[in-house]
Amino acid sequence: MSKKTAEKLLKQYFGYDGFREGQEQLIEAVLSGRDVLGIMPTGAGKSMCFQIPALMMEGITLVISPLISLMKDQVGALNQAGIHAAFLNSSLSVGQYAKALAYAREGRYKIIYVAPERLETQGFLDFVMSEGIKISFLAVDEAHCVSQWGQDFRPSYLKILDFLKKLPYRPVIGAYTATATTGVRDDIMDILQLQDPSVITTGFDRENLYFAVRKPVDKYKELVSYIRRKEKEMPGSSGIVYCLTRKNVEDVCYNLRKEGFSVTRYHAGLSDMERKENQDDFIYDRRQIMVATNAFGMGIDKSDVRFVIHYNMPKNMESYYQEAGRAGRDGEPSDCILYYEPMDVRTNRFFIENNEDNEALDEITRRLVKERDEERLRQMTFYCFTTGCLRNYILDYFGEASPGYCGNCLNCITQFEDVDIAREAASILRCIKANHMNYGVTVIIDIVRGAGNQKILSRGLDRNPEYGSLKEVTVPRLRQIIQELLFRGYLELSNDNYPVLKAADAAEQLQQEKVPLLMKLAKEREPERSAGRGKVRRKKAGAAASLEEKDLELFEALRALRKEIAAEEKVPPYMVFSDKTLALMSAAKPENSSEILTISGVGDYKMEKYGARFLEVIARRI
Ligand code: ADP
Ligand code: ZN
Repeated sequence: MSKKTAEKLLKQYFGYDGFREGQEQLIEAVLSGRDVLGIMPTGAGKSMCFQIPALMMEGITLVISPLISLMKDQVGALNQAGIHAAFLNSSLSVGQYAKALAYAREGRYKIIYVAPERLETQGFLDFVMSEGIKISFLAVDEAHCVSQWGQDFRPSYLKILDFLKKLPYRPVIGAYTATATTGVRDDIMDILQLQDPSVITTGFDRENLYFAVRKPVDKYKELVSYIRRKEKEMPGSSGIVYCLTRKNVEDVCYNLRKEGFSVTRYHAGLSDMERKENQDDFIYDRRQIMVATNAFGMGIDKSDVRFVIHYNMPKNMESYYQEAGRAGRDGEPSDCILYYEPMDVRTNRFFIENNEDNEALDEITRRLVKERDEERLRQMTFYCFTTGCLRNYILDYFGEASPGYCGNCLNCITQFEDVDIAREAASILRCIKANHMNYGVTVIIDIVRGAGNQKILSRGLDRNPEYGSLKEVTVPRLRQIIQELLFRGYLELSNDNYPVLKAADAAEQLQQEKVPLLMKLAKEREPERSAGRGKVRRKKAGAAASLEEKDLELFEALRALRKEIAAEEKVPPYMVFSDKTLALMSAAKPENSSEILTISGVGDYKMEKYGARFLEVIARRI
């Protein structure tokens, strides 16, 4: 009975045809009065797990959420779906706050989002204690914030329990997070005192995400050509470019802007106002590309991010998967690409050495934390060098079994072979040692390939005994070999004014031993990336990605209409309809309201509100 109702509500309000993995169990448990702990990866659809029960239960559901932007986003989406919801946090003026509480007292809201700091304020307590008000369900979003072991500990989350103790009755409690470690999980259950909770952990795999690690000769050029390619495939796609430092953000953003791309930036060095403005520009599709440090992202629910590029390697796999996971929340194919550069390992190590967050810790704990961080950094680096399936590496890291082959990551679609690089390694080392000065990777490659360019000739580098000794080896392959030598510690990259290559002590030994030096290298003629992926795309997901050329124009027209409506409604475009929904419309070309209602993502309320305008554009374009 309740299952049927839940499904009906899912369709009626959100326009979705069925529940995703885990949602149904979590919803049913809450409805039967049981506490729950839901552990699902970003984008899996956690909010539905408390929003649907909220609609079905008597009284009010309180949702505890750590960030204003998160609350705003979810309440906005609910209102768009025709559900009355409100938030109570410090972004409201005194007058607005009082008004919201007054409406709440009148029973206008089924769902109220509240910041944990608000729970203990008198005004709020008065409200929950007033006659006729019943909090039947308390949902704790981002529940890992209660744990000191997590990355986002918020002391205010500890107030939740005090609040519960003040209530004359105990509501059902649901806790939801994407953090899977057992320490955090136990903390959540202990601190929130969940009673015999139904714990549901769904798989951590995100099938629609394509993973790749690249080691480009020129990262910036690679980034530009990637964005250009994307622009051809699907004009207007949103993407995030994560950098490790503010300076990197500034440089990349400045250059991309000069190139004519629609880009903005975000890092802790900007004023609050600029950060907010830039974030909104990205969310509202006024700017297509966000270049940011890891300060950007928590609380960003933008569902149609088509690519997340890590311009630098992050400090650990937890951060990587969380950041990369901001791509493709709508389930559409999206790319997660990491550009590896040895320098990033050193930058991260520097951050670990100088971590101010740990100053309050005692000596022993500090050492343990540092060792743990270093180990995590090592695991992150291994990700960049594995020749196995990248998805498999990730899932393995998070303790989940997976088949060794996914077919949707760069390594799975690349063929590798074992190659003996002893001769190349020896030439490169001799070349470096014969120079009187230190040079960067590009110059060393130019010498061994015998590139007679101005830079080489003017410095007399053509007299190096290794000049031209590897002229038959391609530049990308030499790059990879140099990276491998760096990784294995035979070479070092040191930063004078710019990164220069030096032979490490271990190199001596290598040169004396006459043994093969084996490394896995991609076969020179790598299969065309998009071809390999194309197959998977069509099989797995597809809507927008597999749109036929002739429908693309309609898709663009629908996006333009969506943008217009979003501006009128003052909400981000993806809240009107997701890319996926628009793609489905473009392919199915519904002709009337009952046909448009069959499209995933079109609920009753949105149909009433926007259906006619979309149908009109579709009719015009057929
Ligand atoms: P999370 O909080 O787990 O990161 P969200 O709740 O933001 O994920 O959901 C991610 C996206 O998936 C949203 O766009 C949401 O509308 C969509 N979604 C959730 N449940 C379903 C479903 N059953 N079918 C289709 N889409 C869904
Ligand atoms: Zn794979």
